[in-house]
Amino acid sequence: MRKKIVAGNWKMNKTLQEGVELAKELNAALAGKTINCDVVVGVPATHIASVVASVDSVVGVAAQNCADKASGAYTGEISAAMVASTGAKYVILGHSERRAYYGETSEILKEKTLLALANGLTPIFCIGEVLEEREAGKQNEVVKAQIEESLFNLSAEDFGKIVLAYEPVWAIGTGKTATAEQAQEIHAYIRSVVAAKYGAEVADNTTILYGGSCNASNAKELFANPDVDGGLIGGASLAVANFLPIIEAWN
Ligand code: PEP
Repeated sequence: MRKKIVAGNWKMNKTLQEGVELAKELNAALAGKTINCDVVVGVPATHIASVVASVDSVVGVAAQNCADKASGAYTGEISAAMVASTGAKYVILGHSERRAYYGETSEILKEKTLLALANGLTPIFCIGEVLEEREAGKQNEVVKAQIEESLFNLSAEDFGKIVLAYEPVWAIGTGKTATAEQAQEIHAYIRSVVAAKYGAEVADNTTILYGGSCNASNAKELFANPDVDGGLIGGASLAVANFLPIIEAWN
């Protein structure tokens, strides 16, 4: 059975002290509770090691990016090996903000994915269309191309280590969520794309998260869809009072 995951993406929010505090609060809130999904927090690079040290194994830690090079003269970059050496288990790759503001292409993301996998990290690989593409009915071709261009070079075994996150760009941070029907429709399509390349078993085992203004009031309805395996949560992951009910939407 594929994993259910609720992953937070703190983006560029929280000082180190605030981040450690939030992680500890989340860890304490989860202690002794029955949790029916994996819980992950995607934290700024400066916070990773401290957050790893502040939580139990019930909270996985993700970097929000890693370099497309293994090591060397790349000032300011953080390699997948460095991320792995902190104890983080995941790395968010291809977030639409990185694609749009930092010029991350499919080719770059292909390299990042290979390095993440080579260092034992689980990529949470983001795909999704912008509003104009949705309005033109092109969402399926957009997500298919994003998957094909960055991931279909992988062996079936390696593809099996990827978590996909479908995030319609028009829903990120806008308060405008995809409807449960829209989410199910495109998640099922994404799974069919994976099945066509790697077969039904790999597709069935692929975790596909939904992201885009997911919150305590819509999580249950979104997660009730057969092809929605959890969420990648931005704004609502910045306070335990908002994040915990999303995790509990699986209960
Ligand atoms: C995100 O950035 O991955 C995201 C889904 O943000 P938000 O939940 O704030 O829309």
